[in-house]
Amino acid sequence: MKEVVINLAYLLASAMFVIGLKGLTHPRTAVRGNLTGALGMLLAIVVTLIDQRIIGYEVIIAGAVVGGLIGAVFAIKIQMTAMPQMVALFNGFGGGASVLVAGAALIESGIIEVSGSMTQLVVATVFSGLIGSVTFWGSLIAMFKLWEKVVPGGNVTFPGLQVVNAILAIICVALGVMIIMDPTNITLYWGLVAAAGVMGILLTIPIGGADMPVVIALLNSYSGLAAAATGFVLSNNVLIIAGSLVGASGLILTSIMCKAMNRSLANVIFGKLAPAEGAATADEVYAGKVKAASPEEVAMLFDTARRVVFVPGYGMAVAQAQHVVRDLANWLTSNKGAEVEYAIHPVAGRMPGHMNVLLAEANVPYDQLKEMDEINPTLDTADVAMVIGANDVVNPVARTDPKSPIAGMPIIDVDKCRTVVIVKRSLSPGFAGIPNPLFAADNTLMMFGDGKKALLELVAALKEG
Ligand code: NDP
Repeated sequence: MKEVVINLAYLLASAMFVIGLKGLTHPRTAVRGNLTGALGMLLAIVVTLIDQRIIGYEVIIAGAVVGGLIGAVFAIKIQMTAMPQMVALFNGFGGGASVLVAGAALIESGIIEVSGSMTQLVVATVFSGLIGSVTFWGSLIAMFKLWEKVVPGGNVTFPGLQVVNAILAIICVALGVMIIMDPTNITLYWGLVAAAGVMGILLTIPIGGADMPVVIALLNSYSGLAAAATGFVLSNNVLIIAGSLVGASGLILTSIMCKAMNRSLANVIFGKLAPAEGAATADEVYAGKVKAASPEEVAMLFDTARRVVFVPGYGMAVAQAQHVVRDLANWLTSNKGAEVEYAIHPVAGRMPGHMNVLLAEANVPYDQLKEMDEINPTLDTADVAMVIGANDVVNPVARTDPKSPIAGMPIIDVDKCRTVVIVKRSLSPGFAGIPNPLFAADNTLMMFGDGKKALLELVAALKEG
């Protein structure tokens, strides 16, 4: 009877994970989805602990309180721009936990005589140790790279790196086979964990900081696979299901991000994003062609604008300008009767859904958010496109220069709008490190300044005028 109740609770928790994931597919239902998933996880943890009865309730409650407090402090303190680092760290913890739990299970079972039924446990333990350790160390490097602390954010490499990785992979496979043949030898397991850890570091270290979100999505998928393997070690169904869901969703996210950048996963992991040889320099692209405009001049443009499209990018996140963008949009709608929309590029910013999260935080109505594919065919009817701290995602060379590092990346075609206003501090390049001819186009005006400050001045100028 007890087993039936436990399994039913696991089934319910698994259903809550799936419903939670479904909720996360739309901003309107995302918060509820997140809560549903978290409740499912709470249910799974409580039921597992009751089932196993390894420790007393006071320890369980103390663990939940301490863990909850740490989570709450992180959630409150971490800036929106530092979210990718936090996700990387939490991914790493998932991988590390898998390594330790699988190792503990192996130590426990090693004392018992080896029997045929242990094969599943040992094979799963090898996978947990291998993938968990790659995930833990890879995620830590990813976090430090994004933070630009300890490890430089750029590509760090040395000759023969891939050969070293290949040798490490062979060592890991050999150690895995040896563990399966002799599961009582725990030293072999820690040897595997150490070799996989070095491999995790060396696989991540050559990848540039700006590609880290893709790597984090991939490591997220690995942490799920490690958790699923640990589920097999512990014969725990809910862990197998949760791990598989994380593994699959991480892979889907990785593929969406690669597609949005028109790059293969291999290119992200082994390639280097750099301007092509012989590409036009910033001087050649911009000299004498850039037109700067003051907030007062831009305010006059809005007098006659019927349709305005905002295109947010990484700079909006840095400047935390989302609230003033919303105020500007609201003012234009209520005082000028303008139609306002936001064009969202899937990789604008530095993490998936970055712009959606910021605009949702500023209470921008969801129906004003338009995905790239939906808004692009209509942009030639927009009077003003205001680009706030975006650069690569509106760079027309993606369409025109097949040698460019962003060649083929789908972009938001703001250059087709009647007038384009770009808000950024300088002519500095974006993440891809290449000049943007849009800044020198005939229909473009540059409103130089910090995103938030410049827009506050624009709103003041509009209200005065
Ligand atoms: P970009 O990195 O192309 O450009 C950001 C621009 O913001 C810079 O040119 C910078 O110019 C400007 N900026 C910085 N700070 C401020 C500020 N305070 N106020 C105003 N502007 C500011 O960003 P995009 O969003 O256009 O593109 C994202 C890029 O990141 C793409 O190349 C994408 O492939 C890549 N990427 C995104 C991932 C994701 O998950 N979203 C993952 C991996 C990569 P200036 O210094 O002159 O102000």
